[in-house]
Amino acid sequence: MTTAAATTATTVTDVAVFDGTDAPAGRFDVSFDASGITGVLPTGAARPAGVRVDGAGGTLLPGLIDAHVHFLDPEELSTLARFGVTTALHMGTWPPRFVAELRAAGHGADLRSAGTPLAGTGGTHARIPGFPAADLIETPEQARRRVAARVAEGADYVKLILERPGAGGPSPETAAAAVEAAHAAGLRVVAHASSTGAFALGVRAGVDVLTHAPLDAVPDPDLVRSVADAGIVVVPTLTMMRGTAHNLAVPALSYDHARDTVTALRRAGAVVVAGTDANDAPGVPAAVPHGSSLHDELGLLVEAGLSPAEALRSATGAAADAFGLSDRGRIRPGLRADLLLVTGDPLSRVHATRRVRAVWTAGRAVDAVAQAGPERL
Ligand SMILES: [Zn+2]
Repeated sequence: MTTAAATTATTVTDVAVFDGTDAPAGRFDVSFDASGITGVLPTGAARPAGVRVDGAGGTLLPGLIDAHVHFLDPEELSTLARFGVTTALHMGTWPPRFVAELRAAGHGADLRSAGTPLAGTGGTHARIPGFPAADLIETPEQARRRVAARVAEGADYVKLILERPGAGGPSPETAAAAVEAAHAAGLRVVAHASSTGAFALGVRAGVDVLTHAPLDAVPDPDLVRSVADAGIVVVPTLTMMRGTAHNLAVPALSYDHARDTVTALRRAGAVVVAGTDANDAPGVPAAVPHGSSLHDELGLLVEAGLSPAEALRSATGAAADAFGLSDRGRIRPGLRADLLLVTGDPLSRVHATRRVRAVWTAGRAVDAVAQAGPERL
């Protein structure tokens, strides 16, 4: 049996477009099928064939990319898609057979995965029940071996857990060895860094992406400058940092530091990419729901000083660029037809993304789309 949705050409008509970088003036008819986006034309320029979806009053965006997600259940991939999140950058779980199960799910958001993170023998992750002992690294040689294991398992990038000095994470030499081995294999390194000390270690080790944002302080201007100058992408997961600061209620840790870090990074010209740390794992500092949280994150990024257009880029074109996903993240003929139709204009008010009207993944309409609910900001 062939499914009509997979083969039928579709055109969203008379719609405003945010193309992943900018919002070109005017209204457009955007055509696509399972092979990708086939046309972006001024409304009425051609008579589109196939299914028509009235986009009047709405804005069409590239499907959103959440650059920091975890899973306990492959069904969560479908949950993401219902909220317009069509690509999930998975930042780690174990065992490898569960990652393989996620990859094979065949529904919902398209997955990229780090597989099992690499963590120090004495850090926070070493205390997570069930964390694989083999992936706790102490020496540069162990780091190289675990990167080789990730490569053999088909990881799309390497996740490295960094801690502030003295907190049991990988040493500078071990972190640098992991980065060097990953780069030699053509993989990016995403470093978990939730303190200023871990940020500094990540810069020194040459990581590609820093994820989370410090709760202990705002990095000093030299460190902020070095992140921007090195071209390191930051995925601050403000949603998680806000929840963590609230739940831990440790006086020295403040969400204001995380928010102000984003403000400083953006001013320095660093690339900020949207990610939520969505998860429902027991024991994590804060439960972050899949899908709706990315809409929360966009609001928090705007609150931290990004313009709505910058926030939308951070979840579309900039995210695709940061992770080398050249087939998506923009509305352009030839790219994957991962698309999100919302009501209203998220460029004037980013919260409009919450009003999800339709979602397509690889040209196929997603059933039972979900609105992100009342604004919490
Ligand atoms: Zn995470």
